[in-house]
Amino acid sequence: MLDKTTQDWKSLAAGLAIEGRAFINGQYQDSLSGETRETTNPGNGQKLADVANCSVEDADRAVEVARATFESGVWASMSPADRKMVLVRWAELIEDHADEIALLECLDVGKPIADTTGVDVPAAVRTIRWSGEAIDKVYDQISPAPADCLALIQRLPLGVVAAIVPWNFPLSTTAWKLAPSLATGNSVILKPASNTPLSALRIAGLASEAGLPDGVLQVLPGPGGSLGRHLALHEDIDGLTFTGSTEVGKRLMQYSGESNLKRTFLELGGKSPNIVFADANLEKAAMFAAIAVFYNGGQTCTAGTRLIVEESIREQFVEMVVAQSKNWMPGDPLDPATAMGPMIDTAQLDTVAGYVDIGLKEGATVVAGGCQVMKDTGGSYYEPTILNGVSNGMRVAQEEIFGPVMSVIGFKDAAEAVAIANDSIYGLAGAVWSNNINTAHRVAAAVRVGTMGINNYFGGDMTVPFGGFKQSGNGRDKSMHAFDDYTELKTTWIEFDT
Ligand code: NAP
Repeated sequence: MLDKTTQDWKSLAAGLAIEGRAFINGQYQDSLSGETRETTNPGNGQKLADVANCSVEDADRAVEVARATFESGVWASMSPADRKMVLVRWAELIEDHADEIALLECLDVGKPIADTTGVDVPAAVRTIRWSGEAIDKVYDQISPAPADCLALIQRLPLGVVAAIVPWNFPLSTTAWKLAPSLATGNSVILKPASNTPLSALRIAGLASEAGLPDGVLQVLPGPGGSLGRHLALHEDIDGLTFTGSTEVGKRLMQYSGESNLKRTFLELGGKSPNIVFADANLEKAAMFAAIAVFYNGGQTCTAGTRLIVEESIREQFVEMVVAQSKNWMPGDPLDPATAMGPMIDTAQLDTVAGYVDIGLKEGATVVAGGCQVMKDTGGSYYEPTILNGVSNGMRVAQEEIFGPVMSVIGFKDAAEAVAIANDSIYGLAGAVWSNNINTAHRVAAAVRVGTMGINNYFGGDMTVPFGGFKQSGNGRDKSMHAFDDYTELKTTWIEFDT
């Protein structure tokens, strides 16, 4: 882990065996057409591996396998206590291979190795273990029926579930989808993002090793526009769980309506408000304001990209955050000291640079960053960037940039802070910083988001649900509430002869 040097990780990377084939019916296999697509390392722009490029025919084959497995009851009818054992064993195997999986994620996504070893892999392990351990503690219900009746209310698996995930947290979002969907007895087809398929493919093999019956989990890499769309329109898929952009999420809702009304749960974009009052612990708030945007290069759905600061301290606080931003200069993802890696690809880099130009044209001022760096590496690195003098109507305050760009907006009183925070199509996350308990609670209660921090940012663990209000989605990942997205409620009404 962190006892390794950059050179150690480079040596390990050089010897890494990468699995790029699809995973269907418990076996790694080529796509039916034999087509592959390259996945590249965002850290240097070089090819990493050839990966199966699955088509709609592969999807049909995977759905057939998943349906047959579900109907057989080999997993769905297994006792929750036995399903628990498989998931817990799977978590252990991922932990046993932690360095290898962390390295794969680092190379495929460009995430710093300190993050993949310290955050992504442990989060996946925790999620799978937690859901496994929880599933044999979930009781169904008996309703308050009349004395000559017994009414059972049970939660049953949906059946065949498709999961489509993005490139920014490939391993964690995969775990957030697979752990509760498998724990509740479904058969699942996961489509990773085309840019970042490797960690999901790797852990699928470990699931088999842990005892997951063949055909319960398939992983199909391939293009969203054809393979993903086909899954979302499929008549024999009962549930769809998605993490990605609001734009694609809207299409998936339409596909559900055009096909079989499959249960569709979406975790989408955000433009989260981070509200700082003058009476806050400003040192801590400044440190977290930087973490909230620059962690993962700002490629985080919950990033606190709108820093909403009380006017009386705005200039002083911006200076403190600018100082903090210097800790986030990008570096080689394989260097354990690196805090921020590259953008996922050149297209994302261009988007980020384009938004900084838009901000300048709209009248904002760049007070930190604003440039591409480390061009000679072949990777897409961009400086941590702060735009001051933003007003909430500007595009840089309304649109998800998905890069290390913070927009600073001033406010005069709590009512204005809340109005600015809520003036967004999104409602994913946010935070408020104040040492006045009344201000903090009043503001936190009034901001319409799925997760709100008081005097912290990115707080939370597996025990709490995660998801969005408004156009940030529906449904919830994590916690016992995640089980709701993968189950149907069934009533059985029994009458006794008298
Ligand atoms: P994206 O473009 O929406 O892609 C997400 C996934 O959907 C990918 O696997 C993609 O496949 C697939 N896809 C694309 N078009 C599709 C279609 N027509 N039908 C079915 N599937 C399709 O999002 P992204 O750029 O990968 O990820 C960034 C977005 O995810 C941001 O908006 C971010 O806020 C959001 N996000 C949200 C959360 C949350 O929990 N709320 C967490 C992380 C990220 P390809 O890769 O082949 O295009």
